[in-house]
Amino acid sequence: MAKEDWLNEMGIERYLPLIGEETVAEIVAAARPLLGLRVLHVSSTFHGGGVAGMLRSLLPLMTDLGLDADWSLLYGTPELFRITKGLHNALQGEEVEFQEDDIRLYHEINEFFARHTPIFHDVVVVHDPQPLPLIRYVQKETPWIWRCHIDLSSPAPQAWELLKPLVLRYDAGVVSSEAFRKPDLALPTHLIPPAIDPFSPINRELGEEETAAKLAQYGIPLDKPLLVQVSRFDKWKDPRGVLEVFRRVKEQVDCRLVMLGNMAADDPEGPEIFREVEAQAGALPDVHLITATDELLVNALQRSAAVVLQLSLREGFGLTVSEALWKGTPVVGTCVGGIPLQIKDGHTGFLVEPGDYETAAGRVFSLLRQADLRAELGQAGREHVRRNFLLPRLLLDWLNLLGEVI
Ligand code: UDP
Repeated sequence: MAKEDWLNEMGIERYLPLIGEETVAEIVAAARPLLGLRVLHVSSTFHGGGVAGMLRSLLPLMTDLGLDADWSLLYGTPELFRITKGLHNALQGEEVEFQEDDIRLYHEINEFFARHTPIFHDVVVVHDPQPLPLIRYVQKETPWIWRCHIDLSSPAPQAWELLKPLVLRYDAGVVSSEAFRKPDLALPTHLIPPAIDPFSPINRELGEEETAAKLAQYGIPLDKPLLVQVSRFDKWKDPRGVLEVFRRVKEQVDCRLVMLGNMAADDPEGPEIFREVEAQAGALPDVHLITATDELLVNALQRSAAVVLQLSLREGFGLTVSEALWKGTPVVGTCVGGIPLQIKDGHTGFLVEPGDYETAAGRVFSLLRQADLRAELGQAGREHVRRNFLLPRLLLDWLNLLGEVI
């Protein structure tokens, strides 16, 4: 690698051709008052799911701009993740019973973490419910921000009442969509939609040969149009609905379905949902269910798909939508969470109601029939993502917020 390429590898200037000089100057100006600021992010997994992927890209850029960005992991046990996945489900509206012992363990693990983790930073950003109680067990001397990536639009009341007193201890909240602001929460809550990194393995350019080789590695032929959903095997992503839409489309157009979902360390429900999906898919031809962790496979699939599906019943943001649009692939997605921010109906893809498989299948069918429509929506989708959902915009939003809270 030439020296200049190496120097550009992680820096903000790498994004210049995508965002222009003015935006780069704006980012540098926003970082100037924050030079040397020690920022700690706390989350519960380094791998799997959107939060880990975003932090992996965001932190080197913060460091590049002169901040001192750290990332700590709440060491969860399977028992903790069973409880926090329950909290996650309840925040997304499911009725979940919590035992006193569960809540005690949730707090104990956070207390243990607080005792053994050096937290000396100027700002602490806590992601999602897993490390939320941490704030109770530290000598808090600086601003703390709770960054919630979950759909908070209609939480089960019991769960929200349980978490709200903890959330109130924070100095600011951050959510992904206007619909997730809580009117009953007396906390300044900011809107920062997530973003994708165009240079990460999931999104970087991938030539036709490399793409075909990656698909061949998993035994996926390109003989028929591909429908793809890339999502953890999670009931909220409606994998069974994806199969149902495929079944209906397949009656009219011969196509192939790939569902790729790796297992996130903090999502214990994955294996069980996978088995259910596998049983339901058993009778359908041309279905590929894959649980491998392979970011280049995500890239290759989103690139080769005729249509990407994101049929979530609830969704925080749904990074997979921007990822597909960035590759010029149209998306049929449900109008939940952050998906409508990304899919402008009829312009960058199609929006359907969650659970409306008939309409979803109809939309997929018309896209499969019209290559020019796919190209048009895909192109508009890429431009929409370039303007709104690339990493530098996320970085700028965070720099502005950090500037505000300190
Ligand atoms: N992802 C992945 N491999 C998989 C499934 C998902 O790398 O098998 C990535 C996906 O490309 C996206 C992230 O994990 O970058 C999932 O983020 P999203 O917001 O779509 O959903 P979440 O899992 O955070 O609910």
